[in-house]
Amino acid sequence: MLMMRDSTVNFSVLHRTCKLVVILCFLHISVTLIFYVRSLDIPFSFAQNQQANTAKKHDQTTSKDTKPDVVETNRFSIDNVTSTLTKELVKCLDTSPLLVGPLRIEFSNPVSLDVVRKENPNLQNGGRFKPKDCVALQKVAIIIPFRNRDEHLKFWLYYLHPILQRQQLDYGIYVINQDGDEIFNRAKLLNVGYTEALKEYDYGCFVFSDVDLIPMDDRNTYKCFSQPRHLSVSMDKFGFKLPYNQYFGGVSSMSKEQFLKINGFPNNYWGWGGEDDDIFNRLSSKGMTISRPSGAVGKCRMIRHNRDGGNEDNPQRFDRIAHTRETMNKDGIKTLSYKVVKVEKDQLYTKITVDVGKKD
Ligand code: BGC
Repeated sequence: MLMMRDSTVNFSVLHRTCKLVVILCFLHISVTLIFYVRSLDIPFSFAQNQQANTAKKHDQTTSKDTKPDVVETNRFSIDNVTSTLTKELVKCLDTSPLLVGPLRIEFSNPVSLDVVRKENPNLQNGGRFKPKDCVALQKVAIIIPFRNRDEHLKFWLYYLHPILQRQQLDYGIYVINQDGDEIFNRAKLLNVGYTEALKEYDYGCFVFSDVDLIPMDDRNTYKCFSQPRHLSVSMDKFGFKLPYNQYFGGVSSMSKEQFLKINGFPNNYWGWGGEDDDIFNRLSSKGMTISRPSGAVGKCRMIRHNRDGGNEDNPQRFDRIAHTRETMNKDGIKTLSYKVVKVEKDQLYTKITVDVGKKD
């Protein structure tokens, strides 16, 4: 009897011990499992941090000109392990590898805008473009003073869009159309173009181009340099040379800083001539020099035409040019006033019609 009671007690102790061992084993497996699952999480959070670091690093190293949307992330998962690939667009090269050099430019066959639109499928509305494979070195607004020159504008768009894309610029085309029949004011329209383009995008560089001038070599990059740039240095109209050393007409470029340093352009040159000489005087009075491409690279063709009505010679230009230094701080971008009449967005350009007032 006593023996039976002893064996029952022993069995009960054994039973409880076994239960405890099973519970301990279960706990051990659970803890191991938790750690295992957490260890699977590590590469995921590491990849996330890496991505954040890349974005941070990018923010610190890019200049104001090349800030946004360059970090591209492709994420995929294989067998429960999440991995991240971070592909960062690199800056475009100083000299675009897409350039072809000398170009054949001629104006005998009329151009259709529909054809130009089809030939430039990568443009965004408003005549905007960014290279796909690299981050453009500069954001360039191209400003064209305009009135009644639709045929010239077609040639300009036909030739320039492919050139500017090969130059890998982040650019926009702004056609600034003077409303009404008052005498033409080229420099004031350029001031308007500068102001209106900046309302749209953070441009750092401005190219000011007549509508009838086409470069004959795509190595003549429509961008800005450490000094203001004169781009149309050897025009067919002048026998492929500069008419005079201070000549700054046709096509030129300036960074925002260079433009602001001279208070922009004069607003009071009505009619043909002198405003480009005034701009040259402004630049040299601020100690800047003119940068130019070589005569070969800077060759360009002008579309022949008769002088427009409403753009007669400005007889006051000689007197005005003689006083640039005294007038430039009072007359320029700081005192610009105008009214926007209409804004038209096309795939190939943004056309802004403006009332710039009239000669007083
Ligand atoms: C005028 C400039 C013009 C240049 C070339 C100068 O006399 O003042 O405005 O660009 O001639 O035609």
